[in-house]
Amino acid sequence: MQENYDVVIIGSGPAGTTTARIAAQNNLKVLLVDKKQELGSPIQCSGAISHHGLVSVGVSPEAEFIHEAIYGFDILNEKGDSKKIDYRQLKPDTYGAAADKNPLGYVVDRRRFDRYLMTQAERAGVEVWLKTEGLNYEVTSDGNCEVQLRRFNQELTVKTKVLVGADGLQSQVGKWAGLTTHIKLAELASCLQFIVDQVETNGLLEIITGHEWAPGGYAWIFPKGNGYAEIGLGVARTMTEQNAQWHLDHFMKNSFFKERFKNSKILEIQGGGVPLAAPLKTQYADNLILVGDAARHVNPITGGGLHTALSGGWIAGNFLGDFLASKVPATAENLKRYQDEWLVALGNKMWKLYGIKSQIFKTKDITKRDQMLYQTMSDYFSPDSEFKKI
Ligand SMILES: Cc1cc2nc3c(=O)[nH]c(=O)nc-3n(C[C@H](O)[C@H](O)[C@H](O)COP(=O)(O)OP(=O)(O)OC[C@H]3O[C@@H](n4cnc5c(N)ncnc54)[C@H](O)[C@@H]3O)c2cc1C
Repeated sequence: MQENYDVVIIGSGPAGTTTARIAAQNNLKVLLVDKKQELGSPIQCSGAISHHGLVSVGVSPEAEFIHEAIYGFDILNEKGDSKKIDYRQLKPDTYGAAADKNPLGYVVDRRRFDRYLMTQAERAGVEVWLKTEGLNYEVTSDGNCEVQLRRFNQELTVKTKVLVGADGLQSQVGKWAGLTTHIKLAELASCLQFIVDQVETNGLLEIITGHEWAPGGYAWIFPKGNGYAEIGLGVARTMTEQNAQWHLDHFMKNSFFKERFKNSKILEIQGGGVPLAAPLKTQYADNLILVGDAARHVNPITGGGLHTALSGGWIAGNFLGDFLASKVPATAENLKRYQDEWLVALGNKMWKLYGIKSQIFKTKDITKRDQMLYQTMSDYFSPDSEFKKI
């Protein structure tokens, strides 16, 4: 017999698990599926997320998934001039390592983080199927839809009122509904990072700007706990003839940090694509909404998508609770309200960031462009940034 759900979610990354947990807390019957058998693996993420990004969606920062606490930023230009934004000094009453203070953020382990979020969803009543791939969906004449899945090599269909596409950057769910999900090559950063030993860090996320090191993106050094660090970068393939690996080698061997990296030992190599693009213009269709990377809920300046995946999931889960309780048909026209709510909470600021990012990378003069990016990054992470908490 075919199972019926209120909500079926494809993709158990941070966006999918958060949508699922919140929808279940709103008394909905939820099925969450992922084609992987081990969530968060292989790791394709540096794991930086703010304290606010976690607690604002009801996730408490647990040692179980945290590599290291973060207290601020160090923004560097192509020559190595640095602007430190250390919240331990700027706001000593709020931020610090003492028991009565909070870190500004964390570097999390994506394997353990994704599993933790999935467990929280399961404990809220969500049914989770791993090794289950979403294949397609079809709207049915009764106003619901059928979702075709392949679970352990066996095809089956489940019925749901709303399907949520939380299937990441390469989302197919949006395509099934005919939504425009295409991303321009110029707006896709190709990222690579090494997990290294013997590179010292000091509780700050270091961000290195400049065309010389990372054309169309930036390089980073993040603390990883236990004396490890992440050294990585993202480049726009339309702004360089070389690949990310060439640029990372060039940065490590020739930059102002070459002495610091001299004895580093590479323990792991990770990579992936990051959209430095605008949110999708339409994130809904009949019986369907998109969330997280699938909807391009990604910060177009920093490429950060963890906080925005969690907040998008929070918005989607709460929206679905109210929406399905109201018993209005799940047509595209009615589901547009989800996107409207998301735009007010987050999306309008992301569109503004996209405008700023486009201005920077449209600038032909490299020196001017480098200055603009350095200034924008410095402003973005400062305590009085208008984009704080995005
Ligand atoms: C190198 C790199 C570094 C990054 N560093 C950071 C960082 O430090 N901070 C930050 O905020 N962001 C970072 N990001 C971005 C961040 O990783 C993503 O924005 C975030 O993972 C998006 O979460 P999501 O839930 O939308 O998608 P994902 O985490 O991609 O999850 C999607 C899930 O959908 C599943 N799936 C896909 N298709 C199907 C299907 N058909 N059927 C079933 N399951 C399916 C996948 O298996 C996957 O588990 C980084 C990205 C990269 C590549």
